[in-house]
Amino acid sequence: MSITLEQINKSFGAFRALDDISLAIGDGQLVGLLGPSGSGKTTLLRIIAGLESADRGRILFQGEDVTGLHVRERRVGFVFQHYALFRHMTVAENIAFGLDVLPRKSRPVAGEIRRRVGELLEMVQLSHLAGRYPSQLSGGQKQRIALARALAMQPQILLLDEPFGALDARVRKDLRRWLRNLHDELHFTSVFVTHDQEEALELSDQVVVMSAGRIEQVDQPQALYARPDSRFVFDFLGHVNVFDGTLDGRLLQQGEAWIRLPENREGASSVQVYLRPHEVRLQLQPVAHAHLPLQVEAINLIGAEVRLELRPCGWEAAQLWEIGITHAEFNAWQPRRGDRCFAVPDVGHLFGAG
Ligand code: ATP
Repeated sequence: MSITLEQINKSFGAFRALDDISLAIGDGQLVGLLGPSGSGKTTLLRIIAGLESADRGRILFQGEDVTGLHVRERRVGFVFQHYALFRHMTVAENIAFGLDVLPRKSRPVAGEIRRRVGELLEMVQLSHLAGRYPSQLSGGQKQRIALARALAMQPQILLLDEPFGALDARVRKDLRRWLRNLHDELHFTSVFVTHDQEEALELSDQVVVMSAGRIEQVDQPQALYARPDSRFVFDFLGHVNVFDGTLDGRLLQQGEAWIRLPENREGASSVQVYLRPHEVRLQLQPVAHAHLPLQVEAINLIGAEVRLELRPCGWEAAQLWEIGITHAEFNAWQPRRGDRCFAVPDVGHLFGAG
């Protein structure tokens, strides 16, 4: 079921939480709402659910206006960060409770409820825990039960607010993959809120980046990462190395450092170049197209790569540069704190603002 938002506005007193949000979410898509704290993600999700009403604007499900419909009539499933299972109910009873959100006339009879709960338990692979109470479950299991409860009424739209926020990194990763598979199997439309870039990029078909009640950019994860529209999006999606220089022909200079740009920038006198850690290599000698001397400040071994933090020498940057090298490169070079080297930007990836 597709979701269309048309010029949604929402204020709390004088504070404008959502400012003219328009968005089209295709049937069967898994969409991540990504943004810093307070950017309006939860408010937007609650408005889609019908838990909150917009001051202005329309919401359509599959082309049909649902703006005035009560939350029960919208038939969306939702899962929140704090799974809020009922402590005095077993797992099976908690899932069955998911059907109570349906209007009375469309609630199934007892036998049908039992059958459906059994199916849902199988779907979330927790049939063996049907008789347990929430206190006897792990965080990841509780979250899967909360999801089963949301799916009990067979929603065509599933809304998730930081569904894995309270879990540790490993369980989060497993649950993400599991949710993606479940989504692909059942073909519902899902919108989830997160402030975790990695989660949004890994899980979503489309990522909606929000800031201060507005949409900054909507794109597929790959495109968003490779071609951010704004400095905000660029920064928000991970570390960025910035070179801030003045332009003389194609030569971008600052202090002792320079980069020769691959093309002329008409009319620009100062340019900022942004580079992701993997878009820069390190060498012990300068190259023909760039002279960016750096000094090793810290060496961090993180999983598959070694991430170096580097201080500019003879030029300035607001933040240290971060560049990843492979373990093989690390072993060959054996860098130490204080060592000098040169950054070699991949000119194909120079992303700048004039
Ligand atoms: P977080 O990641 O911290 O959950 P968010 O992006 O989900 O943030 P919202 O919860 O949507 O942000 O809140 C957006 C803004 O609206 C915040 O500044 C918040 O304080 C404000 N806000 C939300 N709900 C209310 C309310 N009921 N009354 C007053 N202000 C509110």
